[in-house]
Amino acid sequence: MLDTSIVDIKGIGEKFAEDLQALNIFTVKDLLFYFPSRYDVIEIQPLSELIHEDKVTIEGRVLNTPSLSFYGRKKSRLTFNIEVENIAVKAVMFNRAFAKNQINMGDVITLTGKWDAHRLQITVSNYQKGSMEKSTDIQPIYSVRGDVTSYRLKKAIQQAMRDYANQVGEILPQDMLTAYKIPSRKDAIKTMHFPENRDALKHARRRFTYEEFLLFQLKIQILRKRRREATIGNAQQYDTGMINDFIKQFPFELTNAQKKSLDQILSDMKSPYRMNRLLQGDVGSGKTAVAAIGLYAAITANKQGALMVPTEILAEQHFKSLTKMFGELAKVELLTGSIKGKKRKEILANVENHQVHILVGTHALIQDDVHFDDLGLVVVDEQHRFGVDQRRALSSKGLHPDVLFMTATPIPRTLAITAFGDMDVSVIDEMPAGRKEIETYWIKANTFDRVLNFIAKHVEAGEQAYIICPLIEESDKLDIQDAVDLYNQLEAYYPPSIRVGLMHGRLHSTEKEEVMKEFAENKVQILVSTTVVEVGVNVPNATIMVIYDAERFGLSQLHQLRGRVGRGDKQSYCILIADPKSETGKERMRIMTDTNNGFELSEEDLKLRGPGDFFGTKQSGLPEFKVADMIHDYRALETARDDAQEIIEFNLLEKDSNYQKLRILLENEGVFDTILD
Ligand code: ADP
Ligand code: MG
Repeated sequence: MLDTSIVDIKGIGEKFAEDLQALNIFTVKDLLFYFPSRYDVIEIQPLSELIHEDKVTIEGRVLNTPSLSFYGRKKSRLTFNIEVENIAVKAVMFNRAFAKNQINMGDVITLTGKWDAHRLQITVSNYQKGSMEKSTDIQPIYSVRGDVTSYRLKKAIQQAMRDYANQVGEILPQDMLTAYKIPSRKDAIKTMHFPENRDALKHARRRFTYEEFLLFQLKIQILRKRRREATIGNAQQYDTGMINDFIKQFPFELTNAQKKSLDQILSDMKSPYRMNRLLQGDVGSGKTAVAAIGLYAAITANKQGALMVPTEILAEQHFKSLTKMFGELAKVELLTGSIKGKKRKEILANVENHQVHILVGTHALIQDDVHFDDLGLVVVDEQHRFGVDQRRALSSKGLHPDVLFMTATPIPRTLAITAFGDMDVSVIDEMPAGRKEIETYWIKANTFDRVLNFIAKHVEAGEQAYIICPLIEESDKLDIQDAVDLYNQLEAYYPPSIRVGLMHGRLHSTEKEEVMKEFAENKVQILVSTTVVEVGVNVPNATIMVIYDAERFGLSQLHQLRGRVGRGDKQSYCILIADPKSETGKERMRIMTDTNNGFELSEEDLKLRGPGDFFGTKQSGLPEFKVADMIHDYRALETARDDAQEIIEFNLLEKDSNYQKLRILLENEGVFDTILD
């Protein structure tokens, strides 16, 4: 049995078993699946191709009896010469006195160690009598910890392989192995531990990559299906004719990407399942327009809608634009934390008696005293600030509305599949026609004067500018000082006709709002700010975004900031001031100037930073794979996702005996009966 404890393996006692627990190895199976973290490939190369100070392997005949000398306490040095390609190479071996008696003149020997090309000398770390059997030898390297040495671990794995490898059964249907040309589970395990050659190793890894992805995808899709089925009962009977009339009154045609996303949303709303959908798209791609149509659809189904945003400023902006958009068609109301007393009571009463059709606001929307008559759709802007807790808060009121999350932070395809596997994703990857691309420039700090003149010229033409100073931590005094200093400098530099405003995290919220308001009304032309400039704030008249020390920001954040401009019909500019020291830093600036496409950027960002950093390591919630790599093996991930979809859709786990092993494995992991949140 593979599930038995490792103490059942010959040669593993209680103590060693305990040591192995530090590596999360408890059962025979754990041990068999403890794969090498990497492989050392040893290859004999001609002397002329050896690189100075590299780790190399050479093979030759011993020319003399090794001579041994001792120094210090217990330290020894063994030296001898070997003949390689008719050249004498000196071999030096430290602290292995015992080898003197094993190495004899005339022996053929294979040495691995650090190469000194000037002295024609190798400092031996490993030797083996005789020549290598194969010209390439692949050595598995395991990561070990504590009292477990790599030698003991290898021995244990060897023993386990001898005794148990034959019990490793296949879990994938034979058809799949054939179709994908991947080795059986048993063969693949053998290859992972004792690779014959590079090719075999490649296929073994391909197998486990696929297996890991498939299991992962099956788990999230089963979960997703269970969630959907657990929330049956809110099929919204909307009126397609009315929706089309509503769309017709827009002063523009929806883009194809908008139409497609809208179709997906509407079909979710009509279905009895609860929608759990993420709508992704760059700033200005028209997400809000699509969401508004969704809200209207809910109204035509005699339901209510809610739009939840992260800040009061945004709530007010959305409230205004939705009120205008809906006119007589629906009653839109605003609810934020600062609306109190009688006004608040009145709003709450109207929400409860369905006088209000759409409620816009901050988190205040889902507080205890807010009761909807019949909430059909909740739209949440900037999904990362709305989590499981909020969903629960809604459910606890007996509300199971469809939920649409909107985000302007494009999540790379790769991560979207894994991190949001249980969410459906719609993507608006196309900008409305006629938009002017923001021109992005990267300059060095010493050309700041030119930037100031550039800004002055545009301000005199009636436009406005943001200047962003970096702020690492809200509480970081120094950084605020940067913003204050810059503000003072600009005040002194520009004539009084150009007004400069200052915004940072230390300001009271009413002060912040005051500053934002003055900027929105063009009473202030240049806004110096830390990154607190609210996501989503809309000042179409602002055409210049200057970002100081741009190398300190991530690509996604730079792109977000850039999205503050380019909202009107005038040409907009983004100026990155940066002196990055590293190649990656420079590369990031180049990428910014090269593309305006948020999805492309996020893919690049992911490549540069790695998946852990993308969301911030702590809350990443990304699965860890043993063999698979989400970025490099992306194609396999897509294949696994599609296969998992098919398996779930056609219920193959139940219906097709070829999938029985997979089903049992998933059952044992509790995938079918864990509690849903
Ligand atoms: P997002 O929410 O993605 O930032 P919005 O929905 O707020 O984008 O749209 C940004 C601006 O573009 C708005 O002024 C909106 O009226 C306009 N807009 C939306 N869709 C289109 C379209 N298909 N064609 C032209 N303009 C559009
Ligand atoms: Mg928006």
